[in-house]
Amino acid sequence: MPTDIKEIFALDGKFKPEERELIGKAYTFSEHAHQGQLRKSGEPYFIHPFETAKNLTRLGMDAQTISAGLLHDVLEDANVTEKTLEKEFGKEILFLVKGVTKLGKLKYQGHERHVESLRKFFVAMANDLRVVIIKLADRLHNLRTLEHVREDKRKRIAIESIEVFAPLANRLGMGKLKGEIEDAAFPYAYPKEYAQIEEIMKEKKDSYQKQLDEVKAELERELKKNKIKVIEIDYRLKHKYSLYKKLLKYNMELDRVNDIVALRIVVDTVENCYRILGIIHSIWKPVPGRIKDYIAIPKPNGYRSLHTSIFTGLGGIAEIQIRTEEMHAEAAYGIAAHFAYKEHGHKKAKDDKSKFEWIEELKDLKTVVTKPKKFIEHLKRDFFNDRIFIFTPEGDVVDLPEDSSPIDFAYLIHSDIGDHVFSAKINGKMSPLSVKLKNSDIVEIATKETAHPTSKWIDYAKTTLARKHIRAYLEKNSLLSRLKSFGGFKR
Ligand code: MN
Repeated sequence: MPTDIKEIFALDGKFKPEERELIGKAYTFSEHAHQGQLRKSGEPYFIHPFETAKNLTRLGMDAQTISAGLLHDVLEDANVTEKTLEKEFGKEILFLVKGVTKLGKLKYQGHERHVESLRKFFVAMANDLRVVIIKLADRLHNLRTLEHVREDKRKRIAIESIEVFAPLANRLGMGKLKGEIEDAAFPYAYPKEYAQIEEIMKEKKDSYQKQLDEVKAELERELKKNKIKVIEIDYRLKHKYSLYKKLLKYNMELDRVNDIVALRIVVDTVENCYRILGIIHSIWKPVPGRIKDYIAIPKPNGYRSLHTSIFTGLGGIAEIQIRTEEMHAEAAYGIAAHFAYKEHGHKKAKDDKSKFEWIEELKDLKTVVTKPKKFIEHLKRDFFNDRIFIFTPEGDVVDLPEDSSPIDFAYLIHSDIGDHVFSAKINGKMSPLSVKLKNSDIVEIATKETAHPTSKWIDYAKTTLARKHIRAYLEKNSLLSRLKSFGGFKR
């Protein structure tokens, strides 16, 4: 027997009896529906929905989503009707399974179709994120069994996973899933580069770990002396694909990558996070410019943690990350952690909304942009690019895509401010409107009633929002002047 429902329950002990019952029913139903079907690997097909459900359980998803994961292929591949599925499992699970089926139907047939499938994806995401999380869990298992797929198809799936699915997981704050998807896809997407990274890791791993062992031992002694309760102290090796990306950025110079291994300290309170940072800096010299306070200012995807890099005194540099348990769960599971919290009765809903506002923005995007090619351009520009944090003089923070200008900032604050930008001060200095903002710039916009968008602004603007407003203004205005010149416009 290659599958056993006990494996699911062993991953998460928190299920209530009725939830166990639901998952059990979905398990039996799906196993029966896929009876006799085989995967390309020659294994029983049911292994696939089963492993998908296990991925979802590891992410801490709720019983409905896990059940839908077990059932995600029964409509398409096992001749089960929607009616039967609804009768057995209710409207919500039917909705989830239908959502996943629709996403999966679109097969790659050239660029246009590919983009079209992505668009469907994001629309579905805006409707119910759980559909997308199931799809990500499904994709992860497919990647892990990719060796049985035809070579050309294999490469296409792997690259698509790296370019679309992993950034999506990242945007949802699901750092762990993102790393897993990238690492599963990496050897098929870029085999040569993968071999190179493997080689590097093999060579360096031991020396890195030795250094971290010493740092860890000394730190543990020191924390004990200071009576700070540590929940977990551990190190992790950087995911292979993300190491590769970083090496590309640094001309493949390994010595410039400081976080190949990172020490992770999980403690009970935020206060203790800062105390530990102080203790670390009193023992080791920190590397200038590498101290990051993502607790006070979280990353746009919600990631929170303190980061610092230290000279180990053994000839190397080590990164240390300090966070609470809750932050730790969120860093790994992102939005899924929020589902889990909500399920267990925490008041997180309001928090979610502001944290994942960009999902709401996505819904708008689909109405603004109709051509598939345009859509993907916008998507890349607005959502997959790295974001920067910009401050108002009052200290409020907004996040914008990289290379944004004061114009983008102004429109994000308010369309009326955007429409009347007269000048911008950046960190107290007058600056041109064309300037590219940098992370943590303080931007002050001066408006004037007589100031208006010009066609140049379109080149300065990076966000869809700003461009949309500028275009609208320019169109309205050229219409007005035309009417005036025809004499058809009277005051
Ligand atoms: Mn599937």
